[in-house]
Amino acid sequence: MQYCLLCNPDGNGTSGEDGTEAIGKYYVEDIPGETQHTTGWHGICEDCVPFIQGQGLEVIPLDGYEDHPLFTGNKDEDVEHECDDPSWSKTSLVTEDDGFDWIECEDCGIKAKRWGVNRIEVVGHE
Ligand SMILES: [Zn+2]
Ligand SMILES: [Zn+2]
Repeated sequence: MQYCLLCNPDGNGTSGEDGTEAIGKYYVEDIPGETQHTTGWHGICEDCVPFIQGQGLEVIPLDGYEDHPLFTGNKDEDVEHECDDPSWSKTSLVTEDDGFDWIECEDCGIKAKRWGVNRIEVVGHE
């Protein structure tokens, strides 16, 4: 799993274009009745990690990439949420493994994670 499978859909992770080396991996469940290209662990490159994370899927860093900003959550800018008194609606069907629900601001559509009732971490627009 050295290369990004999203950028190199015809490879199986062992070959790919320069610059699409995998830095993380995520698990694709085998869904019965659905046509799926591949299932199991997928390598993904720096460009594709945010896309996968944006779908609420957990990306596991590969060895040596644990401190990458995409995984440590150090973003260059803080996410600003303009609404004073936002109404949140829950978008997760089930609570994520880390114990949070995905929620969305009904006014502006910004996405956030919510643990319990009060702890909200704004993630940003998709
Ligand atoms: Zn990629
Ligand atoms: Zn809002």
